[in-house]
Amino acid sequence: MLRTFIALTLLLSAIASYAQRRDNPDATVLNRAKLVSQTDRVEVYRDDVDVEEAFAVAVDQLYGAIEDKLGQKFDTVTLGEKIKVVVSNHVRVSHVWRGYQHMNDPKAVVFLNTRAYNGFKSKTNATLVHEMTHLFTWRYNSHSLREGIADYIARAVMPNTAVGPNEANTVPIKVDWAFKYLGSNLPAPPELTSDSEFRKSYYFSSYVFVNALVERSSMANFLKFYNGVYSDAIFESTFKVTRLNLICELKLGTDCK
Ligand SMILES: [Zn+2]
Repeated sequence: MLRTFIALTLLLSAIASYAQRRDNPDATVLNRAKLVSQTDRVEVYRDDVDVEEAFAVAVDQLYGAIEDKLGQKFDTVTLGEKIKVVVSNHVRVSHVWRGYQHMNDPKAVVFLNTRAYNGFKSKTNATLVHEMTHLFTWRYNSHSLREGIADYIARAVMPNTAVGPNEANTVPIKVDWAFKYLGSNLPAPPELTSDSEFRKSYYFSSYVFVNALVERSSMANFLKFYNGVYSDAIFESTFKVTRLNLICELKLGTDCK
């Protein structure tokens, strides 16, 4: 009887851990990763890749730089005291905990692929800054603005570098989905994971759009809109332009006259 009970308990726990791994690969990577070094504000981990001890100090400096650029403090009440950065040889696309679902399960964890880690060390890739910025701006009302502000801060902290899917020399192109998505309150478009050209343009156009919003008003006004309730009326009163007019002013949409 006892043996049956133990066998059943083992079976159930094996099923539970399999289900967790399948539903949340991030948990698997985080559980497996080894702590390399830390500061008061950050911890850095490695997963099947070498990571320098000095990386924690560099990440800590980014923490300060991002906070300065945003003028907004890290939300330790929700996210805890420390940001974890996990450099993994088994992560294909760098992302924050749960990716596009982060706001539903907010945790201060960045998963960085090896290419982005090496690019950060050689000062040619700012994807780490992009992902960390998501943690400082985790509550948002527009997915496009979320990606745009992350690229904006990445380019402000590390100018002339690659960010996410885009190279340093990227220029904006007109797209036929600009009215639908740029600065709108729609969730992450499904094409982001299926169409690499769409993905590149979505990130870069969102960056150009956010850059214009910050220039027209201020970072504080931008974040007030970003953190608040989304409405076209609030958009227009904050930025003194309608969303569609700004898209056309910036030459981002094919639907403009
Ligand atoms: Zn992002």
